[in-house]
Amino acid sequence: MRIAVLSDIHSNLPALEAVMRDMERIDQVWVLGDVVGYGPHPNQVIAALQSVGARTVLGNHDGAAIGTVDPKDFNPDAGRAIAWTGTAIDDNARSYLSALPEVRTDGDLTAVHGSPRDPIWEYVTSSQIAALNFKAFETRVCFFGHTHLPVVFRLDDDTVRTVQVTPGQPVELDSKRCLINPGSVGQPRDGDPKSSYLVLDTEQATLDYRRVAYDVEATQRAMRDVGLPPRLVERLSYGR
Ligand code: ZN
Repeated sequence: MRIAVLSDIHSNLPALEAVMRDMERIDQVWVLGDVVGYGPHPNQVIAALQSVGARTVLGNHDGAAIGTVDPKDFNPDAGRAIAWTGTAIDDNARSYLSALPEVRTDGDLTAVHGSPRDPIWEYVTSSQIAALNFKAFETRVCFFGHTHLPVVFRLDDDTVRTVQVTPGQPVELDSKRCLINPGSVGQPRDGDPKSSYLVLDTEQATLDYRRVAYDVEATQRAMRDVGLPPRLVERLSYGR
């Protein structure tokens, strides 16, 4: 089976459409939350995910948009974007977001937005934080997002190793447990503005990290049209 794993789409429809065009022979699409927030196309992004039967978990922005997660920790720009999103989402989007679970498990895979022990808010930014989280899920693999940075943390006996990931160089999986971040589709933050996602091939036991160029300016125009904060518009050009 081939599973596409996407995260942090953030209402960026041109980015999501480019990623969907890039996908080949995909059996399932998993989405690690933050479907909305920051960007201009919340309803269209949710409709696109519904059309492929995406298996999605709740992110902090998703919950904030429908009022079930307190946005007190949001910076001012993120807060403004969430306030706009809350007014822009239609009934279909609202009920889709309301139904999202915080954790999904299927076979030896778990999916969360932030971390296994704090699915909404914790950022897994280091092997030390990853180490504390291997105790908080039971499957071999856990996918997470939230940091917008592609990375694999692998548990090797008692040590957590950080595996650098490179597009075009598949990561081979073995029986060792892993915490895996596909990077962000809609707001990459590793200095590369291209959308990031990955394909898990369960037969080959490989992770194929992919980067996809999209029409950044189309998203930026749509953001300006609805009055989203200029800093959020500009950062898409730099992947920061
Ligand atoms: Zn995010």
